[in-house]
Amino acid sequence: MKNTADIVVIGGGPAGVATALEASKNGASVLLLEADTLIGGNAARSTGYLAFQGFAMQDKAGFEDSAEIFYADMVEEINRQKENYGIEFDAELAKVFAQESASTYDWLIDLGFEFNRFLPRPLQHSVNRMVDVTDTSMFTKVFSDVLEKNDVDIRTSTRARRLLVDKSVIVGVQAENETFRANLGVVLAAGGYQANSSLRKKYQPENMASTPYLGTQYDVGDGHIMGQEVGGELINMTMIPPLIMVGSALVEDSIAVNALGSRFHDEAGPYDYRVKELNNQPGRSAHYIYDNHTYMKKMQLINEMPETPSTANSLMELAEIIGSDPKGLDSEIARWNDFLSSSKERDPEFGRVILPAGRRGILEPPYYASKMITGINFPAGGFRVNADLQVLNVYGEPIPKLFAVGDCSGGLGPVIGMGGMRITPALTLGRVAGRKIATQNFECTPNPERLDSYIPSNEMKVPVIDD
Ligand SMILES: Cc1cc2nc3c(=O)[nH]c(=O)nc-3n(C[C@H](O)[C@H](O)[C@H](O)COP(=O)(O)OP(=O)(O)OC[C@H]3O[C@@H](n4cnc5c(N)ncnc54)[C@H](O)[C@@H]3O)c2cc1C
Repeated sequence: MKNTADIVVIGGGPAGVATALEASKNGASVLLLEADTLIGGNAARSTGYLAFQGFAMQDKAGFEDSAEIFYADMVEEINRQKENYGIEFDAELAKVFAQESASTYDWLIDLGFEFNRFLPRPLQHSVNRMVDVTDTSMFTKVFSDVLEKNDVDIRTSTRARRLLVDKSVIVGVQAENETFRANLGVVLAAGGYQANSSLRKKYQPENMASTPYLGTQYDVGDGHIMGQEVGGELINMTMIPPLIMVGSALVEDSIAVNALGSRFHDEAGPYDYRVKELNNQPGRSAHYIYDNHTYMKKMQLINEMPETPSTANSLMELAEIIGSDPKGLDSEIARWNDFLSSSKERDPEFGRVILPAGRRGILEPPYYASKMITGINFPAGGFRVNADLQVLNVYGEPIPKLFAVGDCSGGLGPVIGMGGMRITPALTLGRVAGRKIATQNFECTPNPERLDSYIPSNEMKVPVIDD
C-alpha cells in the first residue's frame, strides 16, 4: 500500500472526515488514519444535536436568523462562561463558522443525512437553530460510504503517535507500525482528551480529573500531545465543564426527580445549571425517570452510562428501588403527563420548552430510573489556529504544514455549553481546512506580519518586574 498522499488526516470523527472529503473533492489525495475499527468518532456516539443558521428548516418554519445573530449568541455565552474559566475565544473563527454553517447543512443533506426537529434552547440560542439528526449511526455508515466513493484511503486500527518534521516543516506521521508521508500537510483531528485522566490532571483539580466520561476511549489527547511536541500552543485547556452524563439523551423524554419524588429543575436547561441544581438536592441524588418506549429508543446511549438503570413494572415499585417517595413520584408523573396533554408550550413549574416528540407522556411500563451522574463529555481546549486552520506556536507563527480541526482546535471550544456546537463547527471548519489545504500553497516560512506583532516593541506593554 502507498503510504504517501497530499494530505494525511489523523482521526476519523466529523472534523477529520469533513476535511478529508473536501480535500479529496478539491483534487488532493488523502490518507485518513483512524485508531478505532470504525470511523465516526464521538459524533456516532453523540446525541446528534447540530446548530446552523440560515438553513432550509429555519426558512420553512419562518425563523429569521443570520450569521450576525448566531455570532452575538456565541459572545453572550462566552460572557457567561468567563466567570467560571479563563477563556480565549477566537472571534474570527466564530464568524467564519457562523457564516459557513448554512452550507454545512446543505452538504449533509446532499450526503444523505436526515434531521428530525428543532430543539429550543432559548437561553443560549436566541433563535431556534438546533436540530437533531434522525440516526447518529449515519456518522459511521454514510461517512464510510462517501469516503470510499471519493477515493479517500482509510486506514482503520491505525493510531498515529508522532509527527515527522524536516527542517521545521511537518512532513508526515509516525503511526504505531508504519510511517506516512504528506506533501501538503498533516491535519490533527484526533478529538479531545477526555479519556486521559492523567492528562486532565494537568489542567483540572485531581478530584475532577477522574470523573467518568462518555464516548470513545480513543480520545486520549494524542493530537494535543503530538502538536505540542512540535511547538503548537494549547488554549482553553482548563475548561472541562462538568455535566450530567447522558442528560442530553434522556432529557427530551424524561423528568428528573429527587428523594421526595419531586422535580427540581428544567431538565433541558444549560449544562452547568443542571449540575448546580443536582448539587442542591438532598444527598446530591436524583434520577431521570422514563418509560419503556424511551428505553427501547435510547438503549444504546443508556447502556453506555456508568450505572445500569433500575426498572420496575409500576412507578411505586420503582420509587422504592431508588429510595424515592412513591406517592411523590406517582403524582409528579401524573402532573407531567397532564401538562403534556395540555396545549401549554412551557412547563409551568420550571419553564422547560424541550418536550418529548409528539408530547408523548411517561406511560408505558416497565418504567426506568437512571441516576444523574456528574461527568464530562467534552473538553474545550485545543490548539490556537488561524483562519486557515494552521496550528500556531506561542509567537502566533504558523507551524509549517500543520493544521488542527474539531476538538483538536481550541478557539471555539468555550461555546460548548450552547448545545450542538461541537459537531457543526468540526464539520464546517473541517470543510474549510480541506478546501484550503488542497487548493492553497501554504508558505513554509512564518508569516512576517504575525511575527512582528508578537515581537515586544517599545509600544507594547511588557510587564515591569519590581526589584
Ligand atoms: C455522549 C456524547 C454526546 C455528545 N453530544 C453532542 C451533541 O449532541 N452535539 C454536539 O455538537 N456535540 C456533541 N458531543 C461532542 C462531539 O461528539 C464531539 O465534540 C465531536 O465529535 C468532535 O469531533 P472531532 O472529529 O474533533 O473528534 P471525535 O469525534 O472525537 O473523533 C476523533 C477521532 O480520532 C480518533 N483518534 C484519536 N486518537 C487517534 C490517533 N492517535 N490516531 C488516529 N486516530 C485517532 C478517534 O478514534 C476518533 O474516531 C457529544 C459527545 C459525547 C461523548
